[in-house]
Amino acid sequence: MKIELNKTFRPNSKVDEFDTRQIKKALNRLGYYTPYEKTGITGMADRTVFDALKKFQRDHGLTATGAAQPDDETIASLNAQISKEPEGTYIWRSVEDNKVRSSHAAYNRTERAWSDSPDPGEDFNCRCWAESQNSLGLTQTVTSTIQDNARPWGNVEFIWHFYFGFGKSTELSEMGLLGAVIQQAQRLMFDRVKSQIADKAKTIGSGTFSGSWNNSYEFRDLVYALGKVTISGHFSGTVSRKNNILAINATAEYEFYDEFTDPLSVRQLVLGTSKVATLPPSLLGGAVLLTTDLMGHPFVTTGQWTTKIAGTISLSEK
Ligand SMILES: [Zn+2]
Repeated sequence: MKIELNKTFRPNSKVDEFDTRQIKKALNRLGYYTPYEKTGITGMADRTVFDALKKFQRDHGLTATGAAQPDDETIASLNAQISKEPEGTYIWRSVEDNKVRSSHAAYNRTERAWSDSPDPGEDFNCRCWAESQNSLGLTQTVTSTIQDNARPWGNVEFIWHFYFGFGKSTELSEMGLLGAVIQQAQRLMFDRVKSQIADKAKTIGSGTFSGSWNNSYEFRDLVYALGKVTISGHFSGTVSRKNNILAINATAEYEFYDEFTDPLSVRQLVLGTSKVATLPPSLLGGAVLLTTDLMGHPFVTTGQWTTKIAGTISLSEK
């Protein structure tokens, strides 16, 4: 397998479908990319693949842009890595619909060595992928019900609440943002929680385990006003061992926390000025003269959700 890009591969631009498939397959082989299991590997470029490419670039001393050009350093580095046979085994996964070719359906959910032929994704138009047997082999599903207010908050609502909410804290679901926040969290940090669980399970081998985390993440591209937020939480579960395979069952509780303190940068974005200004009626449904920022009140946003983590991992994997 060797990647030859047809054109520039870059977020927020029209990319070539075949390029996208090649990059997804390479990143999947190297353990950086796992496709959505209902679609498998497709030619559609979504944020996940650019994020995976960024991570690959970071790990290989390249500028983490998430982008690549035909024959640039990123492509050279990817080609160097995929020319080697990955160590160990993986689980072959298919989309499990009636379009999967029968030979691949027979491999589905079986353990294979990288020396076995073919590799998932290698045959023409194949959507299959490799699921590594490290923590990424665990599945994590959101178990809490999401009841979002139908009209999601944007930057303007954050500013409005800063001036007229008198510091009242807000819930993500009443802001209509819980579902979107969970999706973003899934992309940014669900895998990290999974590997923490896998590590704990490996340490004890069998019995019960628990742990916690507390990190901050950038949510600016979801709603600019959210900026950097904190997601903390804890997990607990059980692990049992048969030969060198660990079966894991756990639950995790996520806590979202954000404090909105400074409307200046957001106002800069919405109004084009960070200065004290009259907000146009179109934005707030009535003209409001903001004479001083001291009129505002910082407020806290919180949210919670739970997930279930299950699956098996092999002790022989790193
Ligand atoms: Zn296939």
